[in-house]
Amino acid sequence: MEAQRELELRGIGVSPGIAAGPVLLLQGDDLPLPEYAIAAEEVPREMLRLEEALIATRRQLHDIQRRVEDALGSESAGIFEAHLQVVDDPSFVDEIFRDLRDKRKNVEKILFDAAERYARTLRQMEDDYLRERATDIRDVTRRILRNLAGGGVDWLAGLDSPRVLVARDLAPSEMVAFDRRKILGVVTELGSPTSHAAIMARAMDLPAIVGLHAVCEKARDGDRVILDGVRGVLVLRPSPAREEDYGRIARGRIVIQKRLATLKDEPAVTRDGHAVALSANIEMPADVEAAWARGARGIGLFRSENLFLASGGDPSEERQYEAYAEVARRIMPESAIIRTLDLGGDKMPASVKLPDEANPFLGWRAIRLCLDRPVLFKTQLRAILRASAHNPNLRIMYPMISSAAEVDRANALLEECKAELAAAGLAFNAAVEVGVMIEIPSAALTADLIAPKVKFFSIGTNDLVQYTLAVDRGNERIAQLYEPTHPAVLQLIRHTVEVSHRHGIWTGVCGEAAGNPILAPLLLGIGVDELSASPGAVPLVKDVVRQIRYAEAQDLAEAARGMATGAEVLELCRALVRRVAPEILELAE
Ligand code: PEP
Ligand code: MG
Repeated sequence: MEAQRELELRGIGVSPGIAAGPVLLLQGDDLPLPEYAIAAEEVPREMLRLEEALIATRRQLHDIQRRVEDALGSESAGIFEAHLQVVDDPSFVDEIFRDLRDKRKNVEKILFDAAERYARTLRQMEDDYLRERATDIRDVTRRILRNLAGGGVDWLAGLDSPRVLVARDLAPSEMVAFDRRKILGVVTELGSPTSHAAIMARAMDLPAIVGLHAVCEKARDGDRVILDGVRGVLVLRPSPAREEDYGRIARGRIVIQKRLATLKDEPAVTRDGHAVALSANIEMPADVEAAWARGARGIGLFRSENLFLASGGDPSEERQYEAYAEVARRIMPESAIIRTLDLGGDKMPASVKLPDEANPFLGWRAIRLCLDRPVLFKTQLRAILRASAHNPNLRIMYPMISSAAEVDRANALLEECKAELAAAGLAFNAAVEVGVMIEIPSAALTADLIAPKVKFFSIGTNDLVQYTLAVDRGNERIAQLYEPTHPAVLQLIRHTVEVSHRHGIWTGVCGEAAGNPILAPLLLGIGVDELSASPGAVPLVKDVVRQIRYAEAQDLAEAARGMATGAEVLELCRALVRRVAPEILELAE
């Protein structure tokens, strides 16, 4: 065994805090294989699960086959024919059914063992062709296992102590299923500060690093690590001296955090009396508590799609109503903005079957999907409307709006829902305010056409930056090009704010830029009315707001207007924070 040497690795720190503990390595594509006994009466349910997984697998294979055939010709697509033969082989399925009855284990375990038996036999064959089929069996089995897991794998089942998760990548549907108590921190090879897994780590207050190249090869399961989510440093097998260093850094940060905690009930107002609405982004209704405890006085964004990602199926109107009503009641009398479904992109639920697309972030996502699926959309709108009866400040926001026409169509469906609820005698706030996310450049550029149709704008910088600069928000390779301070982005933000004020409505920012204390003065200076940040970032933003003068923020925004590069603007922002609130730079890079 190789000596335990310390190794320092650097990635992108995306969620602050220091975590120390043993690694849980989630290697490549390998799924943990659940194994448990089942009762005789559970056998039919396991059979049904297999049948459903086979149907999904068949559909995926046909899809892939078609695409590969189009792109590379039928010869290359042949491999999927072999996979389909495995799925369609009645003797294979019969064998699994028989084993389910005889051995009374969960279907994952039975399937895996049967596939391994097949593969082993084939591997011993003389014939090259048959030996190759062993690989097909293993590939297709992995696919069926994934479908059995339905996207929500419980990686953490059976862990006796919390771990630092190290993985190549984590999907939002996986993050949302995690038991927070079992995780100390998260490290991934892929991803960027605005990939949804990073956003979710911040919401869960989990120190996290993304974009850490080849970490899965360097870290070993069970290795002790120290993770610094501010600087993006991961220390593998730390020396005693390093442990001591980090102990000191952590203690220093705790002192700063304690001071920030005293600001909880203070208003977010500049030294010269300019107030900003400081609210929080939440991923689940239970997060309202954390948001309030950190000093947010409203919910600027509830990412409602998490209800869909977390549950096995489409949540019913009743289930959704309960969730939105819980948010409405808990935050009462302050405001909460429920964003309607933003599925698609990297947010793939197990329930709503989304097609594979070449460019999912430019594809059938969010409001586009909702307008094409009015039953799904109206179920959600009715649930939000009913929740609005509990809080007059519950608001609705449409994501991914690219034109005024989409707002009209969404509003028309909303009116239909109001009529249906009124006819059914159900309570709702008829004057519920509707706003839109400005996160596509076309929406920012035509803000004057959209403004008359809504009561507020909320700028989603995460997507606005990616679409304006043509930089994938989740791609660590081009993370240096992803600049919220790029002059083009600032121009769109400025334009949106000016238009909104001309129309007598307000503009917030709910993208991650709003939670970056270094950028908060710039946004404020541009004239943004509300900043909505992850709960953990709220105290930092509040501190900076309280340390600056509004006039300084305006000067900063004015100076930025003349700058040619995002890097210059960022440096100017950092210099201001360094001057007025230097401690904050200890907690935000
Ligand atoms: C955004 O795009 O800035 C945003 C807040 O939405 P999401 O991160 O959920 O896409
Ligand atoms: Mg977005």
